[in-house]
Amino acid sequence: MDELNSVCSPRSVYLHIPFCHRRCFYCDFAVVPLGDSASGEQGPGSNSIKNYLKLLQREISCSPNGPPLSTVYIGGGTPSILSPKQIDFVLKQLRDHFGIVDGAEITLEMDPASFLKEDLEDFLEIGINRISLGCQSFDNILLERIGRRHRLEDILESCEWLENAQKKGNLETWSIDLIQNLPGHNLSAWRCELIQSILTKSPHISIYDLTIEHGTVFEWRRKKGQLDIPDSSLAAESMELTPLILREAGFSRYEISNYALPGHASRHNRVYWSGCGWWAFGQGATSSPWGKRLERPRTRDTYKNWVESQEVNGPDPTLMQSGSMPMALDERIIVGLRRREGIDLEGLLQNMTWTDQERTSQVEALEKRLRVAFEVGSIQRNGKRIKLSDPYGMAISNDILSEFIVWLDSL
Ligand code: SF4
Repeated sequence: MDELNSVCSPRSVYLHIPFCHRRCFYCDFAVVPLGDSASGEQGPGSNSIKNYLKLLQREISCSPNGPPLSTVYIGGGTPSILSPKQIDFVLKQLRDHFGIVDGAEITLEMDPASFLKEDLEDFLEIGINRISLGCQSFDNILLERIGRRHRLEDILESCEWLENAQKKGNLETWSIDLIQNLPGHNLSAWRCELIQSILTKSPHISIYDLTIEHGTVFEWRRKKGQLDIPDSSLAAESMELTPLILREAGFSRYEISNYALPGHASRHNRVYWSGCGWWAFGQGATSSPWGKRLERPRTRDTYKNWVESQEVNGPDPTLMQSGSMPMALDERIIVGLRRREGIDLEGLLQNMTWTDQERTSQVEALEKRLRVAFEVGSIQRNGKRIKLSDPYGMAISNDILSEFIVWLDSL
């Protein structure tokens, strides 16, 4: 049976720290901009942070219990605005509530603009063993254009510290994030970004495609005709180039957006694409411990009210094992096709209350819809499994997934 068909006890936590210094021009995450001089312990924004940590503590303590955690991901926002002591406080809440197994992967997202070497040492001391560094681009003009505070020099310095920490055995592994198809990216600029990312010696690279989200500065610029982003054919060419260059450097693509050297795939990332559940805590965070997703309110006051209602009325039903159900079929297909191994479609369809005849005719209808994709090789069959080909199928994944969505809508 495809693992996406199963419901397993969650052993992973995502913790959302919503604070950032300022909002980047492309970002629509649930973030609270606190200003360039914000810091966790004192000064601007510190009271908001302290109040938030108390709310987070309350949310964790009124959540259902579960087995000890094997992965924790502290993301945001910019969690490295918090001091090591504050991150330690949050980890302690998780240790007290669930327990954290020895050898668990504990990731902290860090921002090159506010990365301090002393803080890194203290973060490692409290048990962080994986760092994810938000580089986005190595080009200072682009970084300025997308509203980031850091510059190339900050990235290179941060990477050097991370590499040294890994060499000394103090840090298990680390990763960098890049954004593809930024305004002004062309094929040679993107090739340059990829080469620089390899030169950082990071053992894991996540690459996200720029999407223009509602309410962002980028959306406003696009409406005014002031956003020069690559057209779809250039975007697809860049997306095809990425795995070719990274593969030559020894990286393997284990999911559409994630590449790792052997032994460095993120265990936490794999949870999202495996069908296993995860807990999540914090403003705007989405959990799915038993199959059904639950997104928390995105503003401070609405999140506070929500935590209070959990305390008074008990946890939301989606957080209880009794409310468990496998992921919805559309999600299982879309999530599964992001993975290198693809999906066992017939296995996933077994949960549908169809007769054999209905199943056969639905599969035939889908195959008819995907005929061209199979012919040009953007989808491949491997025994019972089907998967997007790499790089071509993954580069045009949105087009292929939309065929699945039209088919799912017709069911
Ligand atoms: S630092 Fe990250 S989370 Fe914060 S505004 Fe920028 S992109 Fe969004």
